[in-house]
Amino acid sequence: KPKVTIQNIQKVYKGKTDVLAVDTINFDIMENEFITILGPSGCGKSTLLRMVGGLEEQTSGHIYLGDQELVGPSSNRGMVFQAYSLFPWLTIEKNIQFGLKNKGMKEADRKDISDSYIELVGLKGFEKHYPNQLSGGMKQRVAIARALANDPEILLLDEPFGALDSQTRLIMQELLLNIWEKKKKTILFITHDVEEAIFLGSRVLVMTSRPGKIKEDMPIELPHPRT
Ligand code: ADP
Ligand code: ADP
Repeated sequence: KPKVTIQNIQKVYKGKTDVLAVDTINFDIMENEFITILGPSGCGKSTLLRMVGGLEEQTSGHIYLGDQELVGPSSNRGMVFQAYSLFPWLTIEKNIQFGLKNKGMKEADRKDISDSYIELVGLKGFEKHYPNQLSGGMKQRVAIARALANDPEILLLDEPFGALDSQTRLIMQELLLNIWEKKKKTILFITHDVEEAIFLGSRVLVMTSRPGKIKEDMPIELPHPRT
């Protein structure tokens, strides 16, 4: 039984000329799958991911988490973007605790959770630092920890390592794979980088543009290139 079902999803951006950004996309995401969506800039990857995240409303079609139709954003989906989108006025630990505080969790429990995710992403000792004191890679570690702290059903990542230098990117890719294996997460990750898509994904969906469609759905055979 699929964890997430994406059914006949279409997105038209209305304007002087309408843009059919995503055209009739269908696929299932199974528990613990790591799916990468690969395609050129402008093919509709972000639009698709934002619809799964509830940040953008589809023009038609349905998205289900289990049997439940998804409407609007909620903490059952954790999101990470290319631009770090951390709160600059909050410390690292307060950034990670942000969603938990909104849920009304007690401070001591929040602290336990942020400590465990700070450790998971390798930022022990940086709890009281502010985002502007961290490098790009470290900021993305915080963004990943913050997305995971709510224990989402699925983690959605939009070119999270696109702004990092190649060495940092490789370190971050390996960190994400470790987290995926250790925490048994279900992941949807978009990128325009072929190598990254194949390195990370247990399945790669290839998109073409105008209109944005999935043209290939490729399981990555074992032994995986990354092993
Ligand atoms: P990427 O290719 O990394 O997704 P883009 O440069 O295409 O980034 O888009 C950046 C932002 O601008 C996105 O939030 C997207 O929704 C918005 N955007 C892209 N194209 C248009 C457009 N034609 N009109 C209005 N907003 C747009
Ligand atoms: P990708 O993430 O693959 O770069 P996007 O999903 O950002 O692609 O964009 C897909 C298409 O939709 C592009 O043609 C883009 O210009 C257009 N688009 C994206 N966001 C908007 C928006 N907010 N308004 C109008 N057009 C948009």
